[in-house]
Amino acid sequence: MSQQPQQFDVVIIGGGAAGLMCAQTAGQRGHRVRLIEHANRCGKKILMSGGGRCNFTNLGTTPKQFLSANPHFCKSALARYTPQHFVELVERHRIAYHEKELGQLFCDVSSKLIVKMLLDECANAGVRIDVGCSVQVVRQSEDGFELQTTQGSMACNKLVVASGGLSIPSMGASGFGYQLAQQFGHTVLPTRAGLVPLTLSGKHQERLQDLSGVALPISARCGKQAFSHDMLITHRGISGPAILQISSYWQPGDQLLLDLLPGRDALQTLQDLKRARPDAELRTVLGDLLPKRFAQRLCEIWLPSRPMRQYNDPQLREAADLLSNFPLIASGTEGYRTAEVTLGGVDTRELSSSSMQSNKVPGLYFIGEVVDVTGWLGGYNFQWAWASGHACGMAL
Ligand SMILES: Cc1cc2nc3c(=O)[nH]c(=O)nc-3n(C[C@H](O)[C@H](O)[C@H](O)COP(=O)(O)OP(=O)(O)OC[C@H]3O[C@@H](n4cnc5c(N)ncnc54)[C@H](O)[C@@H]3O)c2cc1C
Repeated sequence: MSQQPQQFDVVIIGGGAAGLMCAQTAGQRGHRVRLIEHANRCGKKILMSGGGRCNFTNLGTTPKQFLSANPHFCKSALARYTPQHFVELVERHRIAYHEKELGQLFCDVSSKLIVKMLLDECANAGVRIDVGCSVQVVRQSEDGFELQTTQGSMACNKLVVASGGLSIPSMGASGFGYQLAQQFGHTVLPTRAGLVPLTLSGKHQERLQDLSGVALPISARCGKQAFSHDMLITHRGISGPAILQISSYWQPGDQLLLDLLPGRDALQTLQDLKRARPDAELRTVLGDLLPKRFAQRLCEIWLPSRPMRQYNDPQLREAADLLSNFPLIASGTEGYRTAEVTLGGVDTRELSSSSMQSNKVPGLYFIGEVVDVTGWLGGYNFQWAWASGHACGMAL
């Protein structure tokens, strides 16, 4: 005799940041909620985030820090669940935190405390959580959905997909949410790795490879977008916050322009140095402004070095131009293996921005990274997970 599927008001697929926030919000509102996580524990990405200290939000969050084919979509949820709301939750759980830079809030001790907080909130709200449970089949039924899972079948009136993106497959990332969206007739916009190191090949790689480990402040520009922060040279290419940020705007074939003297007028700087130190070689004066090995390499390959007094104005202008618009063509990215996020995903034009509900299938919701909303580096992605999870939890 086949068993009757267990009945829930809400089933949430995915026990990451968005799923846990949605589960607690819906549970607190009296719904019978079951959350299914296929990994052996919830919140693995939270645990590894921010170097183990979870950059859980950014105080300066605005819709401007998000990429999406539909930039207005994120506004409503972000306005209704702000960084301050999450900070209140963190403070209620007596988790110590600090602002590192640029509004980024980190735990003082460990990201484990954030996962514990979310799980405690879920437990208090009566949410049932099953880990190590995989969904095999989802079907629409008369009054909702039926799911076949590795832990039996279940039925629910409302189904929330919070299964995240494709980055870091070793942490449980899967394309499940995208497949489910397509199964129910949703458009999935092309996905690609974001907040990811860029790789170099050919001459660029040969010329920089042995400088692996050298870091310097730069401004990285791609098209109209620019980010000022550190760049790190790696064995395979370039990384560091400025490069991770610009990687989300970079597409194969695009040229990157690096300002190696960010915040300075390069020509004025060189003219001043020529006046102040006419006998010093360019490589020496640049070695005081840039990491010495990097300055040395610049002068070996791109900027022949001689005493400053030997440069005339057009030559100084040429050198200044190279220093403020150093061109690089990346050959690719390191891909989902190391990417922090997945760009693209479920097309927001087919979702309600206030509830995250599908416009095509009533009772079906998509939240978090599976949706085509991707934040900059700096706590914005978690803020989107909290805000979209909360909006959905309130609407269920
Ligand atoms: C190394 C790293 C560091 C990061 N650091 C930060 C940071 O400091 N600040 C920040 O804002 N963002 C950070 N991010 C990004 C952030 O982790 C994500 O944007 C955020 O976790 C997305 O939340 P989510 O709930 O949508 O997805 P996830 O947190 O990825 O959760 C999805 C969950 O669904 C589960 N799942 C997937 N498929 C299935 C399935 N078929 N059945 C059941 N369960 C399934 C997964 O195992 C996972 O637990 C970082 C990301 C990485 C990879």
